[in-house]
Amino acid sequence: MPLTQRQREVLHEMGIPLWVRRGSIRGDTMASVSHTRSEPEGAPQAGAPVPEGLSAVASPSVAELDWDALRTRVAGCVACTELASRRTQTVFGVGDRDADWLFIGEAPGAEEDRRGEPFVGRAGQLLDNMLAALDLARGENVYIANILKCRPPGNRDPRPDEMAACRPFLDRQIALIAPRVVVALGRVAAQALLASEAPLGRLRGGDHTYGGIPLVVTYHPAYLLRSPAEKAKAWNDLLRARKLMLRS
Ligand code: SF4
Repeated sequence: MPLTQRQREVLHEMGIPLWVRRGSIRGDTMASVSHTRSEPEGAPQAGAPVPEGLSAVASPSVAELDWDALRTRVAGCVACTELASRRTQTVFGVGDRDADWLFIGEAPGAEEDRRGEPFVGRAGQLLDNMLAALDLARGENVYIANILKCRPPGNRDPRPDEMAACRPFLDRQIALIAPRVVVALGRVAAQALLASEAPLGRLRGGDHTYGGIPLVVTYHPAYLLRSPAEKAKAWNDLLRARKLMLRS
């Protein structure tokens, strides 16, 4: 699908060079672009042993919640004691509840914790530019969420028990949205969603699904800010996601 003028401008602003072939710009092949299961009350806390017979994902009550009840449940969740005691607020997710595209990052940072929205600040701006390059926009056919809904202190990596504790919330969001494509942003999100310890370089480019939904792995925008030379690969990942979207 040819890129629009606006998409070309956005890619140029991002520092993504475009190769021209046969008088046209082909975004699909030629563009090169140079980052918690719970119940609020009575639930096992992160770090506590999971009772035998209880899956980290299976949480029938969360799986039955509607959007408003889910948001309320998340806001009151204290399953991860350390995270809950230090957060300003939970960061639920943002966007179109009927979106075809679901972007999943790692966890809120300091700015996200303050504002209550995922992917704000410089990394968020880059994500917005990546969305614009796909002719998408935050909130329009796009939903953005994180593996964790509370900020890990000092921006440390989420712990496995925290990710397991928060997963039913994300899984319920995915079930309610029913996206056509999931994009995992960064190593932590990719490894968590794919239950893999493989490095990001191995997960990128693979044919993955999550709950039967095509899943594409790419870099976290915060990493791309530090390593702009990798933007080309990220752009190719997004183009592959778009192809999957068109096929689905
Ligand atoms: Fe609850 Fe998730 Fe926050 Fe942990 S990270 S306290 S499971 S909302």
